[in-house]
Amino acid sequence: MPVLCLIANPAEPELDTAIATEVADAVGGELNWLNPDIACEIVEPKSTEALASARAIIGERPIDAALVPTEGRRKQLLIADMDSTMIEQECIDELADELGIKPQVAEITDRAMRGELDFGQALDTRVALLKGLERRVVEEIRRERITLAPGGRALVHTMKAYGAYTSLVSGGFTLFADYIAKRIGFDEAVANVLDFDGDVLAGTVQKPIVDKDTKRQRLEALAAERGLDLAQTLAVGDGANDLDMIRIAGFGVALHAKPAVAAEAGIRIDHGDLTALLYLQGYSEDDFVR
Ligand SMILES: [Mg+2]
Repeated sequence: MPVLCLIANPAEPELDTAIATEVADAVGGELNWLNPDIACEIVEPKSTEALASARAIIGERPIDAALVPTEGRRKQLLIADMDSTMIEQECIDELADELGIKPQVAEITDRAMRGELDFGQALDTRVALLKGLERRVVEEIRRERITLAPGGRALVHTMKAYGAYTSLVSGGFTLFADYIAKRIGFDEAVANVLDFDGDVLAGTVQKPIVDKDTKRQRLEALAAERGLDLAQTLAVGDGANDLDMIRIAGFGVALHAKPAVAAEAGIRIDHGDLTALLYLQGYSEDDFVR
């Protein structure tokens, strides 16, 4: 039995009763609010075209729609990308900014995340450009420029409170991922290790790197270790290197993702923040742990 979820961004709560009722009337099924003006679900829609109908009614409004199965809706494993998913920046671009080369580096990052460049080569090229950057500068950037994506703490803390294991898997760097994982509350972090030459970046990264295969393999390994079926997992990311884990997870979510990723993911969230992933699982605002 499916559930149709309608979700807005808490910062732009545009899901009013009129639109929710209009969708519910069009597709049939029982309307249940998870958070007024932000998220609702329509249980067992009668229409086989429920998702398309909902999207047609929503039109240009900043509201996401997703159709998910009711069974096994609360996932027991969360695996999440870091850059532009759990945080609002691309760490490597912020490091490059310090050296005055952000435009060049950001262009490579963007193309790599769109899947237009080989991820490993693009990483090596950019890391080489960062050679000479001091450790204390990296730590300063980490402290001052990185902001957590809204809803991330609620997502991780709530899923953990309901028994899930949470993993941050990043094609970025442990210097950021370990720190961010701790701040948000993840159980673990997996990321690339930058080499240092004394107290400055050497311009190289340890091999093998964390790429799309590593992310997918981590998801498979964690599920196996915990005796979980892949259907009981949730993967979220925005880049081409997240697509493999998104494809095999029970809920594979493309969050504010590059077009090629959003097109391929089972679930796309273009407007909502990270709490959208809790509403997809049927959690209501009262269930959130912040
Ligand atoms: Mg990303």
